[in-house]
Amino acid sequence: STEEPWRPFNRSRVYMADLESALHYSLRVEVAAFDVLEKDTLKALNKYVSVLAKYFPGRPMVMNLLKSLNSWLKNQTDNQISYEAFKQVLDNTAQVPHTALPEGVRWVGCQGSQPHFRRYPCGVWTLFHVLTVQANATGGSDHLEVLNAMRNYIRHFFGCRDCAEHFENMAREDLASVDSLQSAMTWLWFRHNRVNNRIAGALSEDPLFPKIQWPSPEMCPSCHTVSESGEHKWKKEQVLSFLLSYFSSSSILTDYLE
Ligand code: FAD
Repeated sequence: STEEPWRPFNRSRVYMADLESALHYSLRVEVAAFDVLEKDTLKALNKYVSVLAKYFPGRPMVMNLLKSLNSWLKNQTDNQISYEAFKQVLDNTAQVPHTALPEGVRWVGCQGSQPHFRRYPCGVWTLFHVLTVQANATGGSDHLEVLNAMRNYIRHFFGCRDCAEHFENMAREDLASVDSLQSAMTWLWFRHNRVNNRIAGALSEDPLFPKIQWPSPEMCPSCHTVSESGEHKWKKEQVLSFLLSYFSSSSILTDYLE
């Protein structure tokens, strides 16, 4: 593929262009790996799209598309659907004005210094952090709705199979301990840091974006403290409010959208 120009961005903000790019890649590339969706893959797709239709803080055009995709899926009575049929709803939006998911990817906050760094996996993390925060903001009734949808999406569709296995192990370990919409946000934050820790320094790490225990003391001074024995400790309440504001729909930047 041709080299894209670097898009200057603010490293401590979330960009809608990354979220839409992640949706494009998941719905038009990863899900497309299945000619037919049935049983567990169909269930996983259903829950994923339903969570997106409910909580994705998107532009009206994109929300219209997610809602039409969701109601189409809900109306299917066969126990299998073809990707072709799904794709028609995804792409054939000519009859309904102002309904579309832009084609292609346009990474901004998830750009990497080389094409094999960051991008989609970065977009996936960002997307699900945003969704847990949105579910909390809108008072979703099932506190595990977003994380279960994520777990099943990753398990069945995420292209990095090692990642999927690691994530499934973490979910099996203690996802069940999540007992509120707030603990869903902090569970994902804490687990994401565990992944950062495990893969820091690996070949997959973009040297311009080193893996850190996030947020850094520069981003959130009040999130960090030191125990009497000199160990680093998180201030969970501060982290929670940091997540709420960092991933809130009102802080998402719309630069570089088509
Ligand atoms: P990412 O880790 O992708 O994070 C994206 C952005 O989220 C960061 O830029 C930062 O702004 C923010 N962020 C960082 N940490 C946190 C946090 N704790 N809480 C909230 N926000 C945060 N790669 C492997 O090599 N091995 C694996 O086992 C593996 N498992 C993965 C499992 C999942 C579910 C996913 C989505 C990805 C996985 N990856 C794995 C990919 C890896 O985690 C990174 O996504 C990839 O290396 C790109 O890193 P990045 O620098 O863009 O930051």
